[in-house]
Amino acid sequence: MSVHKHKDKTPGGDMGRDRYAELRRILEERRREILSAVHDKIRDVRAEGANNPTTGVLDAAETSEADIQDDIEFALIQMKAETLNKINEALARLEEGRYGYCFECADEISDARLRALPFAVRCKDCEEARENAAPRERMLSQRRGSSSLFYDMQG
Ligand SMILES: [Zn+2]
Repeated sequence: MSVHKHKDKTPGGDMGRDRYAELRRILEERRREILSAVHDKIRDVRAEGANNPTTGVLDAAETSEADIQDDIEFALIQMKAETLNKINEALARLEEGRYGYCFECADEISDARLRALPFAVRCKDCEEARENAAPRERMLSQRRGSSSLFYDMQG
């Protein structure tokens, strides 16, 4: 495995200006979408609260249902916040010229692929090769997910 380091070159390292601009646009667009989705969600939640003057007289069942709803909303917003962090990290890597390169072969990951999967770390070829080469490993890692404690204890 060879991973090229792109050091001391700004912005976007030695990638072309066009590619740098395009990748930056993709990431910033994604960031805007998420921010506006979160803002809409927060506004909805507030609007619901305002249109719901009976909040004080909910019975226990209604209250716990509302709690579950709140938990779901919170989890969604938290997920989006995590995605936002990833986008900010990706933008920082882009500035350093370390974003958009395949982790395996260090080739450029195509713009189309990054648009669909902004956090892809492998090019399409390497991802496919990996999937074809390691079905057993993938099965193991999926199983590992459901009983990770057991496998972790095996060291
Ligand atoms: Zn690759």
